[in-house]
Amino acid sequence: KVPVAHTITTIGGTPPQEAMVDKIVKAFTITPEYLEEITQHFLSEMKKGLNEEDQTIAMIPSFVEGRLTGEEVGQFLALDLGGTNLRVVLVDLQGRGNFTTKSTKYKVSDSLKTGDVKDLYNFIADCIDSFLTEHNLDYGTADIHLGYTFSFPVYQSKINRGLQKQWTKGFNCSGAIGKDPVILLQDALAKKHVPVLVSALVNDTVGTLLSNAYSKPDTNAGIIFGTGSNGAYIEKMSSIKKWKGGPTSSDEMIINMEFGAFDNERVVLPVTPWDNKLDRESINPHKQIFEKMISGMYLGEIARNVLLELVDRTLLFEGYSSKELNSQWGFETTYMSTIEADQGDSLKETHRVLSSSLNIPKVSEVDCRIVKRVCDLVGTRAARLAAAAIAGIARQSSSVQNGCDIGIDGSLYEFYPSFEQRIEQGLVELFPDVPDINKRIRLGLAKDGSGVGAALCACVAKKMAERRPS
Ligand code: BGC
Ligand code: MG
Repeated sequence: KVPVAHTITTIGGTPPQEAMVDKIVKAFTITPEYLEEITQHFLSEMKKGLNEEDQTIAMIPSFVEGRLTGEEVGQFLALDLGGTNLRVVLVDLQGRGNFTTKSTKYKVSDSLKTGDVKDLYNFIADCIDSFLTEHNLDYGTADIHLGYTFSFPVYQSKINRGLQKQWTKGFNCSGAIGKDPVILLQDALAKKHVPVLVSALVNDTVGTLLSNAYSKPDTNAGIIFGTGSNGAYIEKMSSIKKWKGGPTSSDEMIINMEFGAFDNERVVLPVTPWDNKLDRESINPHKQIFEKMISGMYLGEIARNVLLELVDRTLLFEGYSSKELNSQWGFETTYMSTIEADQGDSLKETHRVLSSSLNIPKVSEVDCRIVKRVCDLVGTRAARLAAAAIAGIARQSSSVQNGCDIGIDGSLYEFYPSFEQRIEQGLVELFPDVPDINKRIRLGLAKDGSGVGAALCACVAKKMAERRPS
């Protein structure tokens, strides 16, 4: 069960400490009115993205047309790249939301993440090859169909074709931008004679939507709040004004929003100096600003920047730091989870994280309370911004009246204390006229969207090919 965050109200510090904490509180607090303003801007950016190419929220048509029937069955492979681990998954779809999976995780080293993309794909092909051996998958002459969950921005041109737009989340391989990830993967497989056909290319949010919809037909969005963040939802073809893909077999299509880039121009987001420091030190400065304010990869780093400023002003830890706290990414988001869940007067867990995990020499109770307050502020702001995105989707798809399910996956949603409750609180504020908003927009954990979703997408691809007039 997801832990609850315990908020503290008094710091009990010196006047300069209290003054600085007040300043930080102001910088991170999003009032209900401000949240509404952000949501409106989000919605207008969504519309721009639907009307024209190359907008900040890219609103990429996924080429997944229509809805699932629940009749999707069969064995498929899925490959999941772009989260914490690389995974190969064997999915057995059994219809109406039932499935079984077998999967193996592989660690992608930092050198593979930032080296030549050919090395990355050779590594992936080896992983798939050994997975087939390990699971005794001998399909004789027919290739096994694989859905490729590639969790990065791709301009899609078919259900199994697309050109990569950029890297995010700590990946930065050379030789990939402007290339088709399916072709890169298929070539690497061919070289090693691995009998696998890459038949669908799917963003993890699209996969999450599909896997949630498999058992909940009223699903209209899939969202990731994990290492990175993004969402996909079902849009009417008639609203996708920029569509030039010709006739479709359905009047609806899933849109991969790529909302991590929302407000890269910084019109409305409450970007602080601590966010700016994170951004300029990142491998993709001035990109994915929204993602950097709401995702697991970054929250710890924002908090670290705040804590370091407090240290530099000798308002925290008597002005002492540590090698760990001084290092980029040294304050992990999982520490924030532990600290947010800590309760009681003595804040023992917080003290332990600071003194044992971070090796800070002097930690007082006031220090613990300040650190806990900072984590609360960074975590709450993230969840409230996440609520703005969900509200934007709900308003655009008019799903509030009829109610809808939204499948969500990702480490932050799954493990961060009170992340979901804080989103729900944001939604309550954004829909003041809908008293039961949290019953109408039903958030729920979509388990293994990247695996099952990709298998469903491979299955849909097969069906679409059968339906489409040639
Ligand atoms: C990527 C998206 C992806 C999201 C969640 C972002 O960095 O741009 O394509 O859906 O992370 O994994
Ligand atoms: Mg994932």
